[in-house]
Amino acid sequence: MKNSENNSLSGGMKVWFIGAGPGDPDLITVKGRDLIARADAILYTGSLVSETVMRWSKADCEIADSKGMTLEQINHWLIERARNKSVVIRLQTGDPGLYGVLVEIIQALDNEGIESELVPGVSSALAAAAAAKETLTLPEVTQTVIFTRVEGRTPMPEGESLEELARHKTTLCLFLSITLLHKIEDSLLKAGWSEDAQVLVVQKASWPGEEKIIRGTIKTIRAKCKAEGITSQAMIIISPTLGARYFKDIKKSRLYAEEFNHKFRIKNNRKKTTD
Ligand code: SAH
Repeated sequence: MKNSENNSLSGGMKVWFIGAGPGDPDLITVKGRDLIARADAILYTGSLVSETVMRWSKADCEIADSKGMTLEQINHWLIERARNKSVVIRLQTGDPGLYGVLVEIIQALDNEGIESELVPGVSSALAAAAAAKETLTLPEVTQTVIFTRVEGRTPMPEGESLEELARHKTTLCLFLSITLLHKIEDSLLKAGWSEDAQVLVVQKASWPGEEKIIRGTIKTIRAKCKAEGITSQAMIIISPTLGARYFKDIKKSRLYAEEFNHKFRIKNNRKKTTD
């Protein structure tokens, strides 16, 4: 059965790449959830998203975990399903455009004339900050967030070593790096951060009942994570904004300053003067 007619969503063969969010099944987007509810086949990745699939998919949906599959097997699975089924989904943790295998699959689908469409997701970096009630930006402290990782088996491109990035003294969100805390400590100190700079580690951010929040400094975080047995599924955030809710003297965002008229405020101000 070819699906060119019965695929009402696309009118042709297609695979949807959907961000499942960081773990809590409720943190998928409404669009992602609606597609899962209509899906005939879902290939998901990551232990954290299985609950999301189970909660929102229909009973006769074909579901498989890609853990343990090679890229060729993943491509083959999706191509076969796209040819024979109506709504086919590749579900990935967080956002599909961050540290997931994406273009490699899209290229394989392109070669077969199969369309792809992406639905973004809530990244674990954002869920980790939310879990710890932290902001990643703060006026006059830092206005920049770097999403990166430490070099492990995947080499870092030139100019992107942690030491080089850390010199900017912005917020750093480190994916896939929890087993490399010794390297992180070393790079941050070389980049001029103080030993006492705050570090936040969140394991299984948003995951009901399993989330762990560890706070420490560049000097102490490794021992704390070791003591808690944290060796996977963790986000590391280093930022001059950490602990901002306890800062005595925070600069107010200009957006809410009296004299700062953005387009909505101008309207309100005008309204006020005419009231
Ligand atoms: N696309 C995902 C990242 C996949 S790479 C995203 O946008 O979040 C896998 C890495 O993401 C893990 O090593 C860990 O650093 C981080 N990660 C994924 N889910 C997480 C969660 N719930 N809590 C903390 N870190 C998580």
